[in-house]
Formats: sequence, C-alpha cells, structure tokens
Amino acid sequence: MKQENLRVLITGGAGFLGSHLCDRFLAEGHTVVAMDNFITGNPDNIAHLIGHERFSFIRHNVSNYIYVEGPLDAVLHFASPASPNDYLEHPIPTLKVGSLGTLNTLGLAKAKGARYLLASTSEVYGDPDVNPQPETYWGNVNPIGPRGVYDEAKRFAEAMTMAYHRYHGVETRIVRIFNTYGPRMRLNDGRVVPNFIAQALRGEPLTVYMGGKQTRSFQYMSDLIEGIYRLLYSDEVLPVNIGNPREMTILEFAEAVVEMTNSGSEIHFVTPTDERIKDDPKQRRPDITKARAVLGWEPKVNLAEGLAQTIDYFRGRV
Ligand code: UDP
Repeated sequence: MKQENLRVLITGGAGFLGSHLCDRFLAEGHTVVAMDNFITGNPDNIAHLIGHERFSFIRHNVSNYIYVEGPLDAVLHFASPASPNDYLEHPIPTLKVGSLGTLNTLGLAKAKGARYLLASTSEVYGDPDVNPQPETYWGNVNPIGPRGVYDEAKRFAEAMTMAYHRYHGVETRIVRIFNTYGPRMRLNDGRVVPNFIAQALRGEPLTVYMGGKQTRSFQYMSDLIEGIYRLLYSDEVLPVNIGNPREMTILEFAEAVVEMTNSGSEIHFVTPTDERIKDDPKQRRPDITKARAVLGWEPKVNLAEGLAQTIDYFRGRV
C-alpha cells in the first residue's frame, strides 16, 4: 500500500467510530468515501464534512452488493450495530452486516487491490474464563444467546477475512476493539457510558445491573483511532487487541461518573427484565502486549480526561 494520498472507504462512516476515522484520515491528507445506511449511524456525525473536497458519502447498506467508482487503497469495515441494545433490536441486520457485509467489502477490496481492515471486537472472547484476554484466547461464546448475533457474526467475519488473506492474498488487518467511549456515542444506545452520563446529568438514578461486580476496561476514542491507524500501516495480519487495560467494576464506574458530573444521582441496583443481561461478560480486560510490541501503541488518555470530554459532549444533548 502506498503511504500518502490514500483513497479509503469507511463503512459505518456515520457511526461513532466510523466518523472519527473519517476525521483522522482527512486530517492526514487522504481522501475518504464514507458509507452508511443510518440504522444506527447518524448524519449529524458527518455533517461537518459535507462539502469537504476530499470527502464523499454514499448512503448504502453494505449487506447488499457494493459499487464504488474509482480506485481504493484501503477498505475499513466498521458498519455494524454495536451496542447490546442495538443488536437485540436489529438481530438480522447485525448478522447480515457481519457476514454478507464482510463478504461484500472483502470482495470489493480484492477487486480494487485495496488493503482491508476489519473492525472486530472483544465480544469474540464471549464471557471469558481467562483475564486479561490475549489474542491467542479462543473465547467462550454462546452462539444462541442474545449476544450471539453479534459475537458469531464478528467471529465469522474474522474467519472470512483470514480466508480472503490466505486464499486470495488480500492484505488484511483485524482489530479487536474493547469498550470504547467518547463524543458521538448515541445518548440512547443503551451502553453503560451514555446511560450513566445521561442519568447523572439528569439527576436520575444510575441503573447498575447485576450488582455492579462485573468488570470492563474503558478506552477513550482517540486512543483507539490511533491504534487503528497504526495497524492499517503495519504488517500484522493476525488480530490485535486495542483497548485500555485499566479494569474496573461497573459499580466503580458508576461512582466515577457521579463524581465527574458533580451529580446528586443515587446508584440503583436493577435487573432488566428482558434478555439484555443474559451472557453479560463478568470480566473484560485487554492484554495489549501485542499492540505494544507490533504497533508501539498504548493508551494515552486516562478515564478522568476522557470522561470530561464525553460529559461535555452529552451535556449539550440531554
Ligand atoms: N450496564 C449497567 N447499567 C446500564 C447499562 C449497562 O450496569 O445502564 C452494564 C452491563 O450489564 C455490562 C456493562 O455495564 O455489564 C457494560 O455494558 P455495555 O452495554 O456498555 O457494553 P458491553 O461491554 O456489555 O458490550
């Protein structure tokens, strides 16, 4: 792949991560074609890019055949519902975008001679019985549970990506993304970060599920974007975890949000009555030894800094 003036396709380009990737690639002088069907993406995330001379947008569902005119140097496949609420609400589109969408974007990359980068997820590790999770861990996933539609689609996507690499020689990269937060997350996507911040800003109780003893490790968006950018240019074909290894319980996270927002909100322990928390991983922390070694990457933004940015963003929107 050439180094400069790339022309890249970003699927899910109007999503939380996709739109930040658009910004990064444009800032580096590249040309960006973004694609989204707005199932969970939001036109507001790319409104500031409309009219940019190196940016174009195609409204399209990538689970259907994709046509892009002209050359492409890289294809980054970021389209997918990505919060547990979203994939419970859109189970079939989630399965389709991870399977058919991955097939179509890989086919496009092959046809264009483009490098390919797949957005995979820590969900491939399921409810892990090793902590932290290294890339060599095969995972503990329930294929038929409510999260199965996302987890198995992403596992299939990884298998398909490796097959295109091994059989067709496509230059592929796979990033396994751990919990990421920041501006442009949807206020109502149901994930813990927007839920808690919105609740705290409104003075409502924070809804902590499962007693709050389960753990997560939250990384700020800009750290992830840097890791993805480095991975695309690297030689690493096998999956690389990108996440922040600072692990905390959900109860600790709730307390941090209350403190950072100066909120008077109480913390309530609740049990959702729907399937939402079935198979909810009890622990999650990335082993980032590999990212450190092959990308020279590690997270730079701590929770207080990242939360401050995110709270600012949500403050104007609740
Ligand atoms: N969670 C919670 N209260 C909420 C939303 C989520 O306690 O209002 C918990 C959820 O049960 C999970 C963790 O927070 O253990 C992270 O959930 P999220 O939906 O953000 O993403 P996940 O990491 O489960 O994909």
